[in-house]
Formats: sequence, structure tokens, C-alpha cells
Amino acid sequence: MSPITISKIVMYAASMLIGSTGILFTLLNRRTDKLQNKLYLAMLTIVDLNCVSEILAACNLSRAAVSPAAAMAVRVGHFSYFLPHSIVPAIFLFYVLSVCGANFSGKRKRYILLTIPALLIETIVVLNPSMNWMYYYDHNMVYHRNWGLMVIYVLSGLYIAMAIFMLLFSWKALNRKRRTALIYFFTVAILGIVVQLINYEIRTELISETIGLLGVMIAIEIEDDRIDAAMGIYNRRALNADMHAYIVSGRSLSLMCVKITNTEIIKRATGSDNSEALSKLVSEYLRSIVPRYYIYSTSPGTFMITLMDTDEKKVNDLAATISERFENPWKIGDNEIPLKVLVMAADVPNRIHSVSDAFYMADSPVPKKLDKNILTGSDLDYLLRRAAVESAITRGLEEHNFEVFYQPTYRVSDSTLHGAEALIRLHDPEMGNLFPDEFIPIAEQIGLIDDVDDYVFREVCEFIKSGIPALNLMDCINVNLSVLQCMQPAFAEHVIEVADSFGIDKTMINFEITESIAASDYSALSRAVRILKRQGFRFSMDDYGTGYSNMQSIFRLDFDIIKIDKSILWSAEKGQMGQIILDSSVRMIRQMRRKILVEGVETEHQLQMLRDLGVDFAQGYLFSKPISKRDFIELITHAKHKTS
Ligand code: C2E
Ligand code: CA
Ligand code: CA
Repeated sequence: MSPITISKIVMYAASMLIGSTGILFTLLNRRTDKLQNKLYLAMLTIVDLNCVSEILAACNLSRAAVSPAAAMAVRVGHFSYFLPHSIVPAIFLFYVLSVCGANFSGKRKRYILLTIPALLIETIVVLNPSMNWMYYYDHNMVYHRNWGLMVIYVLSGLYIAMAIFMLLFSWKALNRKRRTALIYFFTVAILGIVVQLINYEIRTELISETIGLLGVMIAIEIEDDRIDAAMGIYNRRALNADMHAYIVSGRSLSLMCVKITNTEIIKRATGSDNSEALSKLVSEYLRSIVPRYYIYSTSPGTFMITLMDTDEKKVNDLAATISERFENPWKIGDNEIPLKVLVMAADVPNRIHSVSDAFYMADSPVPKKLDKNILTGSDLDYLLRRAAVESAITRGLEEHNFEVFYQPTYRVSDSTLHGAEALIRLHDPEMGNLFPDEFIPIAEQIGLIDDVDDYVFREVCEFIKSGIPALNLMDCINVNLSVLQCMQPAFAEHVIEVADSFGIDKTMINFEITESIAASDYSALSRAVRILKRQGFRFSMDDYGTGYSNMQSIFRLDFDIIKIDKSILWSAEKGQMGQIILDSSVRMIRQMRRKILVEGVETEHQLQMLRDLGVDFAQGYLFSKPISKRDFIELITHAKHKTS
């Protein structure tokens, strides 16, 4: 054998080894069930078999002119090379399509069209032994190319071009690893093909293809970072990446969340935290009814399932099946454990618009009000609204969509201006105007209340600094504080620092607290109040009479003003019982020598009632609703002109 022949054979043997390594490890990983995996394995297998064909041809080429057996071996070698290799570009296109998340079954016709060039290619190859369209051998067994080969090159080029187009088209949907792997493959494979095209003696095509495919295996096919090893299903990170891809590429699907709502029972029943064993058990069950690559585990006891091209009825049936399974107990060790499940299903992108919506569905606390265990359609509105509010808050802080409104308070005796309460509003470009009753509790849960309250406090400081409130004889401006916030260690110091930075009179700030905390947290709160009161700040107890307030804290926290909740005033108008509660509350607070403000005053009659009771201040729609700072300034300056 000539040295050139030997070097060719070595090259093919090396490619074959690399290819076999890829095949072996793909099979070892046992992830061959997805279409994408199958296509990958098909490419690798073809390239590997091609090496055998090429070795066969190379070994016999030198003797082909003299030995009919060698000539036959060369013919078989070449034919068995072209037969599968000619469709690799087509398979590669479908591989790229599936990595990019294409929807094959949805647009079947379009994908069938894509196979037509491949069929044409295969026809040319299959007919070659009799028609010689592609290549032929002369009587010296010298190989000649024919026009058919050009046709195949052009069609293959078309597939590669479409694959590159697809890659660029889905650029945003692919993560860095996938992009890099696909570009790596294109570069290495094309380089190998070009080198071989320039000099046919340098057989780089197969080795570059196998090396390129190996890169693809490492970056795309081996999904160790996406798989929960114990359960063999995808993890949180995979859901994040896949949802991102689906949403960017506008793919529609159904997203199902299976949530075990009583995981704490496992500990009680088995004595130890067997949540992992349980998750494994449930994931095995889910895998028995849905392919594993559609299931994600986002946290112990919570699973998300992506359902492609599944109509509503099938989704609902699946939800019912899962829910029914949970009517029977689960066996962990010797224990039969009854598990409760909540199944939610929502459409992407109709109801789930973003990746965070999906995670909100997975992570949100189970709704108390809904006692169903399957939630679909409009059941989930509130959930999704919550997710939307969450992003509106974050967006609001970044884009300055918050605004402080002011609602004036008046002295009951002569209806002169006493002060104002600062009330926050959120004007979201997408959701419109949002009210604090909705977004404050959410801001508390996601840990953004500090930023929200801090914003309000600074706005109020700035307003006071402008001198307008003092000029209009306002006593103070009330700022609502979240109790969560006041209990933070450095809270008081922070407030003092901000007020000092504005250089304002601290007695003009009156903090409102709804006293709803457990006694154990009392010390932190009372410390903050003490420090701030010493600095001159004033404090009001908010929502007196709603059940949270307690008599003792009026003294312990040394409140200046007690704000009686509007519900007390309104029920006083309705009946004798309510009247007694209001009367005695007012009397008691007065005996404690605190000032009293009643909120929710909407009618003259109510105001008269408060006057008769000797209440100090009033706030309510009778005087004004909460209004923007501009309107507020206009209101108070106008009122001053009227009275003076
Ligand atoms: P709140 O502190 O009890 O505030 C009084 C609420 O009663 C305000 O609702 C106000 O618009 C409303 N109101 C006042 N007078 C009347 C009336 O005559 N009739 C009726 N029907 N309602 C009246 P708003 O502005 O929606 O605020 C709701 C709650 O959100 C507040 O209750 C407060 O707890 C919280 N909040 C508002 N702004 C802030 C803030 O900046 N920080 C914090 N942490 N909480 C805030
Ligand atoms: Ca308040
Ligand atoms: Ca209140």
C-alpha cells in the first residue's frame, strides 16, 4: 500500500474512533428518546459508517484496475458512502430546527416540503449504478464525476444555507452554548469539506464532520447541567432556558404545573425529610404518562410540564388523570402517604407571557380561596395578574412610574387644614393605574417594600423642603410605613439620615403604622419608634378598630395620634352597636390623652357626628380624595385664599 493510501486509512480510522466515541457516550447517557437526539445519533452513525466505506474503497483502489473483486469493493465502498451521506445535510437542517424549538407536527406540510430535495438526492444516488448520473468509472477504474454530483452539491448547499438561516433566525432563542456549538460545527465541517474539495487527496471531510458533531454532543446533547440527576427529568435552569426559547420564537404550547401542597406531611409521617424520595416517586409517575423531556422539576414537590400541540381537551384530561392519581396514597418505605395536589394549566403565550410568569406559576403560594385542585383558564387570572403586578413594581422602580398622592386632613372643630396623608400610586404603562391595596402586599413579599416606602419618604421630604406645606399652615404630612420595614435593624438611623440630608423640620413628618405584629418582634419596633420620636418625628396608629390594634401598644409605642378606621365610622351610622363602639373608642383614646383622627368621612352628617364627639381631625372624600401633588397644592392654596 502506498503511503498516501495508508495515511488516508489512518485518517478514516481516526474519524471512526471519534464517531464511535460519540455514539457510545450518547447511548450510555440513555437520552435517545427525543427527536433531536435521534437525528443527532443518525448523523453520527452515518458519518461513522462512511468511514468503513471509505476504508473499504481506499484499501482496494490500487488493485481495482486489475482485480474484478477489488473493483467491486471500490464500487460498493463508494456507493455505500454516498447512499447515507448525501442526506446528512437534510438531517442536519432538521436537527438545527429541533434545537431551535421548531414545531414539526404543527406545520407538517411545510416540513414534508423540506424533504423533497433529499428525496431527489437519494434518487440520483440510488439510480447511479445503472444511470451513472452522479459518477462513473472508466475501464481503468478511474473515478469520474458527473452532473448529478453537482446537483447534489447544490441541494446540499441549500440545506446548509437554510440551517444557517434558521440559526440566525432563532439567535435570540438559543443560549450561548447552543449558538457556539452550532457555529463550531458549521465552521469545522465546512472547512473540512472545502479542503477536500480543493485537494481530493486530503480527506478531511469525514474527520471534520465527526469532530464538529462531537462538539455538538458536548454542548447540546449532553444535558448534565439541565437534568436533575436523581429524577432524570429537567431542572429549573432547563425550564428557564426552554421557556425563554419558546417565548422568543413565539411558539404556542400549554404549560402545566403539578404542585404537591402538603409536602410537610412526609416529615410528619416518616419522621424525616423524605421529600426527595417523594419527588422521585411522583416524577416516575409523571414520566409514565408524559415523555420525560417535557417534565421539569422546579423545586421539591413542584413539577412543570410543557405540552406541545395538545388541544385543550387533552390538557384537561391529563390534568384530571394526574389529579385522580393523587386520590390514592403514595408508598414511601412502609408508609402510605396521602398527598394533596394542585394542577394548573395555562396557555403560552396567551396567559403565560414571560419566563417569570412561568416561574410565578411554579413558585407562588397556593391560593387559599380556591378549593379546587385543578385550576385552568380564568381560575389563574389572579395568579397571572399577580405576576404582572410584580413586574409592574420592579418596572415602576426602574422607570419612575410611582407617584405620591396627597389626601388632606382637617381639624373637625373649624374645618381648617391640618395636614395630609401621602398615598402611593403606580401608573404602569401596561396595566394602567394600580392601587396600593393590591401592590403593597406584593411589594412586601418580593422584598421591594423598602424601596417603595423609601421613595415615598423622600418625595415627602422634598415637598416639605419646598416650604409649601408650612406656608399653608400644615402641621404634618403622614407617611405610611410597612411594619416589616420598621423592624429592620438600621431603619431609624436610615430615616434620620435621609431627613437630615433634606434639612427638614422632623416634626413635620408623621409616620403611620398599622400595629399588627407579634409581641416577640415588639422590641425592635419600639426601639425604632423611641429613637425617631426623640428626633422629633411623630407617630400615628393606623386602622384602629380593625382587629389588629391593641390598647397596650397605644402607650408602649407612645403614639401621638390614633386613626380610627373608616369601618368603625361607617358602622356607627348604621346601628346602635356601631355607635357604641365609636363613642367608647373616642372616649377611651381621649382619656389616654391622644389625639384622634377619623378617616373615611364622606358626608356632612358623619362630620357633624364627629364634631359632637369632640374628635380632633378628619380625613375623607367629603373634603377630598387623594390627589396629585399639583392638584393638592392648588387645593390648599385656593382654600387659603378663600378663608383669608
Ligand atoms: P390606609 O393607610 O388606611 O389609607 C387610607 C385609605 O383609605 C386610602 O386608600 C384612601 O384613599 C382611602 N380613603 C380615604 N378617605 C376615604 C373615604 O372617604 N372613603 C373611602 N371609601 N376611602 C377613603 P389607598 O390610597 O388605596 O391606600 C390603601 C392602603 O395602602 C393604605 O391604607 C395603606 O395601608 C397602604 N398604603 C398607601 N400608600 C402607602 C405607602 O406609601 N406605603 C405603605 N407601606 N403603604 C401604603
Ligand atoms: Ca394610612
Ligand atoms: Ca387607615
